[in-house]
Amino acid sequence: MKLLIMGPPGAGKGTQAQVIAKKLGIAHISTGELFRGHIKNQTELGKLAKTFIDKGELVPDEVTLNMFKVRIAESDCANGFMLDGFPRTVPQADALKDIAEIDKAISIVLEDEEVVKRLTGRRTCECGAFYNVNISFLMPQVDNTCDKCGKTLIQRDDDQEITIRNRLVVYRRQTGPLLDYYKDILFDVNGVGSVEEVTERIMEGL
Ligand code: AMP
Repeated sequence: MKLLIMGPPGAGKGTQAQVIAKKLGIAHISTGELFRGHIKNQTELGKLAKTFIDKGELVPDEVTLNMFKVRIAESDCANGFMLDGFPRTVPQADALKDIAEIDKAISIVLEDEEVVKRLTGRRTCECGAFYNVNISFLMPQVDNTCDKCGKTLIQRDDDQEITIRNRLVVYRRQTGPLLDYYKDILFDVNGVGSVEEVTERIMEGL
């Protein structure tokens, strides 16, 4: 199965993409994660991407497409995949059309103020644990410290409020047209609720 998931930043795309991909036994491809990997490893691509990501802008299509094409050619994608954060522009969607035929597109819907609340509170740990200091049941027990391994929590550089607001503008302007582009295979999912509730809604839609 070839799927893609869209939604404003903070809607839970990454979490849902990971869960659904695992359930269906398909590869999970997150262009945001690929960029963050390059940034962490200080590659030339990472240095370039960071200049856009830190402002909440999109990385140019050509750069994104080159990176994406390398990833989608890997063997784990042969059985299908869940695209998370790609495509984000019409030219990216056009390029994808030449590579693969998407079966279904999921659009997670969430209001802007909920996005800002979620993202300004988002914290992660190197060990993979995630928290939210604005949501009571997701807070760490000790300030800024991972409950599981005791390491200091990390806030993404692009999770500052000013950057988040720009990411929302960019989402509406550049990714918004894709809702129409994929209208024949697209279904909306309400992003409010627990991870499990949203997963259930997606599985029903599939
Ligand atoms: P994400 O983790 O999906 O929220 O992506 C984080 C950031 O990476 C975005 O705000 C963009 O700057 C960049 N990015 C991720 N995917 C793409 C894409 N398909 N096209 C352009 N930029 C992207």
